Amino acid sequence: MILGQFQTTGHDLFARGLVSSHSGDLSIRLGDRIIITRRGCRLGCLQEHDLIETGVSRNDRATPLASVELAVHRAIYQQTPALAIVHAHPPHTIALSLTETEIVPSDAEGSAIVGQVPVLGWQEEVRVGGLADLIAGALKQCRIVMVRGHGSFAIGQLLEEGLNSTTTMEQSSRILFLLRSLKVASAGS
Ligand SMILES: [Zn+2]
Repeated sequence: MILGQFQTTGHDLFARGLVSSHSGDLSIRLGDRIIITRRGCRLGCLQEHDLIETGVSRNDRATPLASVELAVHRAIYQQTPALAIVHAHPPHTIALSLTETEIVPSDAEGSAIVGQVPVLGWQEEVRVGGLADLIAGALKQCRIVMVRGHGSFAIGQLLEEGLNSTTTMEQSSRILFLLRSLKVASAGS
């Protein structure tokens, strides 16, 4: 049943182009344990051996197999009530994150579901697995954040909630691009 939740979410992210073949990661929290996708796995076709169980705070033999973003997932679970995390690389939102300090949806669904999404990493060096405390701190106030030029971290009680926030935010970003192209077209006519 747990594997099925990971497979559905991972497949949806890949099929929608929100992660490349070997990027992104998913996790859930079970008490003081994390189940997180394996380092370098393919989210689009997850198998049982792609799910790694380790501690929220403690390392064990399985820890080195976990996703390279494990430190971020741990910080989020330590600092928020999240029970599930979805990390993706949604391309339209990544493009916006390189020019905006927050993503502000112009459509009703985006406004209602994700609201204003902060973009983190304007003052800091952005690297994979970094900014853990900054990301966790921001997720105390909202359900999804963007790391500048990298990707999104969404939280929920279920992986499906993180998926919903991620797909909704990317849909809003696509609409923002369409709106901008309309403005450029009308300005040029
Ligand atoms: Zn990433």
